[in-house]
Formats: sequence, structure tokens, C-alpha cells
Amino acid sequence: MHKKLFIPGPVEVNPDILAAMGTPMIGHRMKEYADLHGGVTSNLKKLLFTADRVFLATSSAFGVMEGAVRNLVGTRCANFCNGAFSDKWHDVTKRCGKEADAIRTEWGSPVTAEIVEKTLSTGKYDSMTMIHNETSTGVMSPLSEIAEVMRRFPDVMFIVDTVSSMSAIKIPVDELGIDSCIFGVQKAFALPPGLAVFTASEKALKRAANMEGRGYYFDYAEFAANDAKNNTPSTPCISLIFALDCQLKRMFAEGLENRWSRHNDLAGYVRSWLADRGFKSFPADAFRSQTLTCSCNSRGIDLAALKKRLGEAGFAFDDGYGKIKGETFRIAHMGDMTRSDLDELFAAITAILPELA
Ligand SMILES: *Cc1c(COP(=O)(O)O)cnc(C)c1O
Repeated sequence: MHKKLFIPGPVEVNPDILAAMGTPMIGHRMKEYADLHGGVTSNLKKLLFTADRVFLATSSAFGVMEGAVRNLVGTRCANFCNGAFSDKWHDVTKRCGKEADAIRTEWGSPVTAEIVEKTLSTGKYDSMTMIHNETSTGVMSPLSEIAEVMRRFPDVMFIVDTVSSMSAIKIPVDELGIDSCIFGVQKAFALPPGLAVFTASEKALKRAANMEGRGYYFDYAEFAANDAKNNTPSTPCISLIFALDCQLKRMFAEGLENRWSRHNDLAGYVRSWLADRGFKSFPADAFRSQTLTCSCNSRGIDLAALKKRLGEAGFAFDDGYGKIKGETFRIAHMGDMTRSDLDELFAAITAILPELA
């Protein structure tokens, strides 16, 4: 039996997208691929509100997160850490042999403009990484306020992970001044995993061009040279790019404004359903994610048992991530989800809860 996915990634994939993945194969040096690549990247530019380059990498998000560090961190990187994925990005930065500091805020708290300003004012850093939507804690940091601060540090590379938020809310990459915006496709994009997308500003491409040790697989200069011919440095995951092409067309058919407001509506729906049942939010109200809800286990439920029972009923449920597993649980409402999908999950939880109390 297929368990319907309510975990924050991978998420449920629409059948039209799965069908698009079955498109007969083409060669990546054939004109058919150049046409596909050109169409996909031009739609991505519209979705991301960018005139910068947009590249397609065959890897999960962490491949490109490592690539960004290798290409863009020169003297020293400030890794803003407020959850499991941002903590790991700091670890990755160090493992790439870069000088880096973890600027930590408590799990459940956002990265703030104040902390970014205070950190970069030291003049120690030529690059920073942050995660817009910390999927481990359900916290969405105030990206536009941070972007305002970043304007005063034009020599600091602004590297942002939008894995679990891109397309669910408006993230205008150029207006925000993001030098490299990174996301994988298995979360907010609702595709199967294996493809990552990243942007590179002119500034980023210039920095990368002179960077030592940027390797080959994620070399920004290789991506730029190949993208100019609507191509990729090595063989891409063509089936997933067919899927991405299909999904971008579906997103524009839905309408971007409609997509953003659907996510806003779903977030409100999940929050009030949980609040009505006595569950408190893990993040402070102002920083709750629009794409997943991380809730405290306020009623002291045996979450492992709930997860098991929901699994038997056909639902994949998440009982928390990393050090807050068991204390929190997460419900994803990203990708192509609707209220009626959530109603199915809520009905199942309602039926099971009395037996667990
Ligand atoms: C899932 C996730 C990642 C890691 O992505 P992989 O595709 O597993 O490499 C990174 N950042 C965020 C915010 C995520 O949610």
C-alpha cells in the first residue's frame, strides 16, 4: 500500500508529473535537450524573478549547498544556524576546508536582520549562508529584512537555501540581492528527488572564476559555459527535467498568486486545527513556516505509536527531526497539497488519538 506523504520531503507527487518522467529518453547533446533546458530555465527565471543565470544540477540539495561553499567562500564564511539543516551546512563548509563560524540561534528561533548585521559588521566575513525555511523546526526567517541589511555588505556573498519554500511564497531573487539561491525539487516543488536548482549573480560568477579548489562537478564556471548552450557540464537527470518542465507549466497554469495564497490558506488551516486540539506551535507565531507546521507535542502523545498507526492507515507522518524528535511533530503542507488532502489526514488522526491518550 502506498502511504500518502505528509512528511516534509519528499512529498506526494502528482500523477501527471510521474507520467512526464516516463517521456522517451533523449540525448543531452541533442537539440531536443537544448530546447527542454532553455524552456525550463526561462520558466524558472520567471518563477524566481531573476535575470541571473539559473542552473540545473543532478544531485540533491546538499550537493549544490556544498558547491556554493566551494565556489563562493573565500576568506571566511558566516553560517547562520537555527536548526538541523543549517547546522549541517556549517559542517559541510568546514569539511570543504573553508574557514567558517557557526552563528547559532536557538532551534525554533529565526535568523534575524539584527544578528546578521551584528555578525557582518565585524568585517570578518566575505560570505554568509542561511536557510530561509528551516524544515527541521518549521521556522521561516524574515528574508526581506535580512536582504535589507545585506545591501550594506555588497562584498559578502549572500547564499540562501530555499529548499522547502521556493514557489510556495514569493521569493524575488534579484530584488532581494541573493547571490546564489539554492533548492532541491522534492519539497516545495513536489517532484521526485535527484535534481537541484541554483542561481548565480554576476558577482557570484566573478568570485567563483578566481576561486581555488572549486572542483569540477559543481563548478559555477562550468555551469555558466554549458548553460550558454542550453546544456549542463555532465549528463543531467533528464527524466526529472521533463518532470520539472511539467511542474513549471502546472505552476503557471495555477497562477503564482494563487499558489502563494493556497499555501497561506493551508498553513492557517493546519495551525488552527492543531490549536483547537490543544497543540502549541514550536516556533514563535511570527516565524511559523508557510509550508510545514512544527508543533509541540503538548498533549504528551506517544508519537511513535501515532506514526505507526497512521502508517497502517495509509499516511506517512513525521514525529520530529533530530534533537527535537518526540518533543515535536511536523505536518507538511507544501507542493500540490490541498485542504481535502489534509482533511484525510485529520480524519485519520481524529480516529486514532482517543486510543493513544
Ligand atoms: C531537505 C533539506 C535539505 C537537504 O536536502 P537534500 O536534498 O536531502 O540534500 C537542505 N535544506 C533544507 C531546508 C531542507 O529542507
